[in-house]
Amino acid sequence: MTEKIARFFAENTPATPCLVVDLDVVANNYANLHDALPEARIFYAVKANPAPEILKLLVGQGSCFDTASVPEIQYCLDAGATADRISFGNTIKKASDIARAHALGISLFAFDSLEELEKIAEHAPGARVFCRILTSGEGADWPLSRKFGCEPEMATELLLAASTMNVVPYGVSFHVGSQQRDLTQWDKALAQTAEIFHNLEEKGVMLRMVNLGGGFATRYLKDIPSEGEYGNAIEASLRKHFGNRLPETIIEPGRSMVGNAGIIRSEVVLISRKSHRDDRRWVYLDIGKFGGLAETMDEAIKYKIQTPHDDSPAEPVILAGPTCDSADVLYEKTDYRLPVDLRIGDKIDILATGAYTTTYSAVNFNGFSPLASYYI
Ligand SMILES: *Cc1c(COP(=O)(O)O)cnc(C)c1O
Repeated sequence: MTEKIARFFAENTPATPCLVVDLDVVANNYANLHDALPEARIFYAVKANPAPEILKLLVGQGSCFDTASVPEIQYCLDAGATADRISFGNTIKKASDIARAHALGISLFAFDSLEELEKIAEHAPGARVFCRILTSGEGADWPLSRKFGCEPEMATELLLAASTMNVVPYGVSFHVGSQQRDLTQWDKALAQTAEIFHNLEEKGVMLRMVNLGGGFATRYLKDIPSEGEYGNAIEASLRKHFGNRLPETIIEPGRSMVGNAGIIRSEVVLISRKSHRDDRRWVYLDIGKFGGLAETMDEAIKYKIQTPHDDSPAEPVILAGPTCDSADVLYEKTDYRLPVDLRIGDKIDILATGAYTTTYSAVNFNGFSPLASYYI
């Protein structure tokens, strides 16, 4: 916990559950990523946390923005970003939304199918388009595979088709999966990307940009590579596959920009057992899957938890949320241990929860309010 967040909790004792984000950490994350990949333009993936305070800060730092919907585009414009700093990176868009984005001045669009490319050519004439290729998502704790992207052969065909339409075939994108700790995954995708560039060049179409996506990790329970290690791996791989003719590059960090900047404070609502023989206590918090911790689905993201009794002995627990839905169990298979001294009413902190929490929290499911958040 940063000093600033600790002071905020001490001075304000906000009602729980709530998320507190230290904007200095976000600024630091931006600077570190920029240092690690100085040639790449940063397009912050707005979905990770679209709070106006974060967007305004990043506008000031010089960031660009990757958006998935017209409202996300509007948030960025409202925060002061100009349209040339915003991409419409969702491969699944309504024609009316493409037209609206075009009217707002957006000129960089993603696609992964002929049908979507045709929509863009019709409703955003003159736009620069990039084709997303499939990745396996291997090595990622929160894979995004299958739903997005097409096979590289199809991407080649589609970008060639784009060259005959009223759009500019601009480049290739991929996303190696979120919370990707395997540095070799970018190399696999870059090898395929370079081949697409090469095949199109042979047909007279010169692509310009590689969009390296997100995937940079936040530290939860396990160690992660540093920004510098990601940067070195990606730069080596770009040189390997593109030689001296390096393309323009962009990255779309979401999680790594805001994840470690936030802490959720929660209260223990109940500690109980299912029988006298039960060897694990159930610990129910005032936040669960529907209150912002959706990434605990399949126990994919394993948050670190701090309690006021962490120097006393701990015992295994099952952690669950407060709603009347049996899916609202956070960790049952993962070996979580909490202090024997933990009591009902204690406040606990869920660390590195600045990304994918407020936006994932349900509106009044079971009467619980959406996750409150503070940006300091
Ligand atoms: C969600 C998303 C990102 C952000 O991914 P992280 O792993 O959070 O960095 C980037 N690009 C696209 C297209 C996305 O959908």
